[in-house]
Amino acid sequence: MRYTAAALTDRGRKRPTNEDAFGFSVEHGVYVVCDGMGGAAAGEIASSLAVDEILRHLAKDREPGTPLPALAENAVCAANEAVYSRAQRNQRLHGMGTTLVSLVVEERRAWVFNVGDSRAYRLRNGRLVQVTLDHSLVEEQVRMGRLTEAEALRSPLRNVITRALGTQNCVTPDSFELGTEAGDLFLLCSDGLTREIADPAIESILTSDVSLEDRCSRLIEAAKKAGGHDNITCILVQAA
Ligand code: CA
Repeated sequence: MRYTAAALTDRGRKRPTNEDAFGFSVEHGVYVVCDGMGGAAAGEIASSLAVDEILRHLAKDREPGTPLPALAENAVCAANEAVYSRAQRNQRLHGMGTTLVSLVVEERRAWVFNVGDSRAYRLRNGRLVQVTLDHSLVEEQVRMGRLTEAEALRSPLRNVITRALGTQNCVTPDSFELGTEAGDLFLLCSDGLTREIADPAIESILTSDVSLEDRCSRLIEAAKKAGGHDNITCILVQAA
């Protein structure tokens, strides 16, 4: 199985800075999106620290021989520790954190790890399916049947996430193991995309017959056209 990827991030139309970060290594089969939070520049620091740490463990300094899922879980722990300890050492960064969604692939297998409300999707045979479940207050209420999706989008509590990386000394990500087929297309993205455009619009862009780079641009343009209230980041990973 061969994988190709494209990625793009954009400040959006309302925010003065971009607190999202992303990184990937096609060679090592690792892809990550983080959406930082915290005052001053803390959000940017948290998200980029987490991305760097994931890539360090799963690409740059990867230990050969260790099974990939175990390695990835260690990497998430290390990323959490890096953000948390940096925040502990510096009063200005206190309380910073980040979401994380990461895809790791090896031959015909893929694993997704997530903390917070950044999402992973898989498009197969033209159909888009969300892989991750948001760790957010309103999405948890939607899953319990207490709110509709429409109410969740309008809720004043929609920004409250129930799990974040770096805000406590330990974090447990959700993990999903998936089989990969030729033609599968994975999307990792921050909520700046999914709050602005609904899944059917994402599906129609992902199924368009243009390059992965152009599909990334179209996703970002659609989110900006819909308001662009937040930073927007997407990574597309195609199996062939
Ligand atoms: Ca965001």
